[in-house]
Amino acid sequence: MILLYNKIKIMSIAIMEDIIMKILAIGAHQDDNEFRVGGMASKWIKAGHEVRFLSMCDGGGGHHIMTAAETRARRARESAAVAEYLGIRYDIWDIEDCNLVADLETRKRLICYVREFCPDLIIAHRLNDYHADHRAAAQLVADASYLLTVPNLCPDTPAMRRLPVIVYNEDKTKNPEFSATYVVSIDDEVETKLHLCHLNESQVYEWLPYTYELTAPEGEAERRAFLKGMEITPGTTDEEIMAGGYGYSVRFARTAARFRRELIEKYGEEKGKSVRYAEAFELCEYGRQPDEAFVKELFGF
Ligand SMILES: [Zn+2]
Repeated sequence: MILLYNKIKIMSIAIMEDIIMKILAIGAHQDDNEFRVGGMASKWIKAGHEVRFLSMCDGGGGHHIMTAAETRARRARESAAVAEYLGIRYDIWDIEDCNLVADLETRKRLICYVREFCPDLIIAHRLNDYHADHRAAAQLVADASYLLTVPNLCPDTPAMRRLPVIVYNEDKTKNPEFSATYVVSIDDEVETKLHLCHLNESQVYEWLPYTYELTAPEGEAERRAFLKGMEITPGTTDEEIMAGGYGYSVRFARTAARFRRELIEKYGEEKGKSVRYAEAFELCEYGRQPDEAFVKELFGF
């Protein structure tokens, strides 16, 4: 009897230590999650958590030469490559790019989708992000949030018993400005994150440079260097990073430079100052407010 009791006790401790959380990153478009949460996604997966990416739009808008149908098909292949690389499920809805609206039908679709996965954490756009689809996606998450727990709404999909925690990913809009509740060094994941960007090749080498009036070079090594942008070394100052021009390692370094004070608060003077790349998240008041253990588990890296 004592032996059995001890066995049960050991099993329950093992389960406690092996917390599996479900994390849902909701982007309006297929590259949004990679750009904004790619580093953390990799950390969470390595820690044993389940990560899923959703793109609410179909990807057809992201090109200046290919037709919408060609772009959609190509980006679906790129997202499949991202899913395979990370080992995650990556869902893409059939709503046309630049056509996402926060209507009742889409709200109910999102409620059912979230309930079926039942995530502990949702990462979403902020309500005043620059792109209309981002704002609509943010509005849909905000509108769906409390209703996830209301059983008489969408009764065919069982309501969640408790709200997920919701955080916003970082953006550059200023009124009101994003504030970082959680900031995490992704120095150990920057190559992973750059590779996730590289896999969105129609965007990072074609469409997005086009919007900046740039042309990506030919050749694998040249393209990777173009993608990376300015070389960030331990001696690179935050001022140099903020003025660093186009490129994705610079972009990830800007988050560290922007939230240097928060990084120092979290990691202490020495490490906080040396962090080169970071991701930042703002806690959303519409979700569950997390306790200390939750924050430590998912943002304590
Ligand atoms: Zn987007």
